[in-house]
Amino acid sequence: MGKATCSFDNCHSAVITINENNIINLPEQVHNQFKLLENRTMQDAPLSENNFLVVPDVWDFDNVGVSREIPSSLLADSGNMGEFIFDYGNSSWKIKKCLKYLICADCDKGPIGIICQVQDQENDQERVLHLLSLRSLEVV
Ligand SMILES: [Zn+2]
Repeated sequence: MGKATCSFDNCHSAVITINENNIINLPEQVHNQFKLLENRTMQDAPLSENNFLVVPDVWDFDNVGVSREIPSSLLADSGNMGEFIFDYGNSSWKIKKCLKYLICADCDKGPIGIICQVQDQENDQERVLHLLSLRSLEVV
């Protein structure tokens, strides 16, 4: 089980210990759609390139920052939102909207992930999950 750290020189702040059971794959365009930071060292990463880590609770992070604002183009029902569906736990979830960005708590660089409102495809229940882009971090 690895640790995800900030990929920037002079920072390398610990972000989270990776629980491999919570790793999901989202399509490539998620990075563009949400304008997530691309990891400069991704070719060295042992994990496949589209991996995200689902983090149910903000307290699961060692260190993380939250951006105050998100671009209006990412707000709910803006019309240009792709359909992103992933399996987590015993459910299949659809990303409804991006609420905030995750950034490095120390150097404020990012975004390294998103805080999303997601909807259970079975019963339409909604909850909030943190989706951390492992590609935007260094995995050690
Ligand atoms: Zn940092």
